[in-house]
Amino acid sequence: MTINLGWSGGVVVKTGDFVVRFDPQTKKNLNSLNFFSHSHQDHIGGLNLKAENYMTFGTKDILLFRENNASERFKPLKYGEKTRVGELEIIAHNAGHILGSAQFEVRGPKTTVVYTGDINYRNMLTTKAADVIPCDVLIVETTYGSPNYVFPSFGETCVEIVNWTLGCLTDGDLPIFQVYSTGKAQEITKIFNDLTKIPVLVHPTVAKVNQAYEKNGVKLIYTRSNSEEGKELLRSKHCVFIIPTHYKAFPTQSYSLAIASGWVLKYRSRKFSGAFPLSGHADFRQLVNYVKQVKPKQVFTIHGNQEYFAKYLSRKLGTRALPITSVEQKPLQKYL
Ligand SMILES: [Zn+2]
Repeated sequence: MTINLGWSGGVVVKTGDFVVRFDPQTKKNLNSLNFFSHSHQDHIGGLNLKAENYMTFGTKDILLFRENNASERFKPLKYGEKTRVGELEIIAHNAGHILGSAQFEVRGPKTTVVYTGDINYRNMLTTKAADVIPCDVLIVETTYGSPNYVFPSFGETCVEIVNWTLGCLTDGDLPIFQVYSTGKAQEITKIFNDLTKIPVLVHPTVAKVNQAYEKNGVKLIYTRSNSEEGKELLRSKHCVFIIPTHYKAFPTQSYSLAIASGWVLKYRSRKFSGAFPLSGHADFRQLVNYVKQVKPKQVFTIHGNQEYFAKYLSRKLGTRALPITSVEQKPLQKYL
């Protein structure tokens, strides 16, 4: 039976009567089996509560706590668990990006395809490095797929974060981290929990996601900013405050603002006095190493620097590579 692979508002695999979509971007997917790599908003645009939605337990828990999005049609998966779809087996593997993030391995009778979702190949405090999965066709995220993005070591970045925060506290300013409420906020909470005794105050939106992490075995110590204890802590300014990116109601006392993202290596706003390249994504070097380890016959790139990275792989590694969004659905054998 022919297996087709390509792009149609998400990565699509077709076999017989089955259509499988990975991180679909539109909700017009009622008749397909939809697999979601993780809970970040740019990956769940196609979450349709009337369709069949596969995701890991961690991703499901974040959606439950963060959005009250309970659905009978969420099919939770464990890492390593096999889901049979016609002649295919689909297996979720750790992607190292945030709690519950998954790469999906699609095993056909003769060919294996891997879709990475967002990935990170180094150990952090709340996530473990992504698994390396041998495959014939690799669909890899390339958010930081350019030599402009080579991150310093995780340890160096932690030291910079703690130093900046201590400087703020010494100067009498409240240190505030304005970051993604899912993933980054928990990693920063854990950095302060494990490396310092500085109390961590979190916005209620962050606290909702923290609950999902705690349910999945990640111990976090923090105080909600809307609790009485939290309000007192805020007045004292003897804490570090973690707020979501959309937050606008800043406290009235003097504060210093920090951002933590791989993008700070290239872009930086003046409103942030602290800027740290702490990322849940692979940097350029990690992406190149991953492709070298996997040795796929064909690579497809997706997100960010997809054009650049595909050209780099073709020219420097001699690996066939194209952005997945440029590919209409074709039989898998044509890519090999
Ligand atoms: Zn993500």
